[in-house]
Amino acid sequence: MLNLLIFGPPGAGKGTQASLLAKKYALNHLSSGELLRQERENGLLGVKIKKYQDAGRLVPDSLIIKMVEGAIKKNLDGKGFIFDGYPRNIYQAKTLDRLFKTLGKNIQIVFNLKLNSKAATERILLRGKTSGRSDDNKKTIAHRLQVYRQQTAPLLKYYQAQGKLKNIDGRPDIKSVFRQISDTIKTNI
Ligand code: ADP
Repeated sequence: MLNLLIFGPPGAGKGTQASLLAKKYALNHLSSGELLRQERENGLLGVKIKKYQDAGRLVPDSLIIKMVEGAIKKNLDGKGFIFDGYPRNIYQAKTLDRLFKTLGKNIQIVFNLKLNSKAATERILLRGKTSGRSDDNKKTIAHRLQVYRQQTAPLLKYYQAQGKLKNIDGRPDIKSVFRQISDTIKTNI
């Protein structure tokens, strides 16, 4: 199995690159934001999830962990996973490590898609014009970036200590970023 993780601030292009990776390596694209948005449409927890997402806050760990673990267990016979937007804090990361250990699986590479706050904000505002996402507005973005810095960015050290972290310049166009990512996989797997 090839199991990858992609990090970066909101707007860095995680979802786009994760989709390309899923296609190229036949991986299961596991986007926690997308799982939550689907649940908003179909599930009973919709109102609660919308409240957190619109505020730019993380939804409770218990909720997202249950959803992600369900999705992992459903796809264990596949070629692997690309995690996008998960884990988002230390507790989620440790829980994922524990689950993978129990399953006898391994995360091979953790990508850090780098983009500064100004560029990230500009991209999300642009995306907001067509995405239809109620959290792609100026006020929510500022809070999402703050949550990223405070709760998610510390995870980079956690994965660096495991020797898995690879930094990727998120500024160039989609193809160039994907080339950096693919080359990193080629040289490390
Ligand atoms: P972005 O990375 O651009 O913020 P996402 O779709 O990954 O977009 O996340 C949107 C929102 O969904 C987050 O602001 C948060 O409210 C919620 N969310 C996504 N992933 C998680 C997670 N792993 N834990 C808690 N909340 C999450």
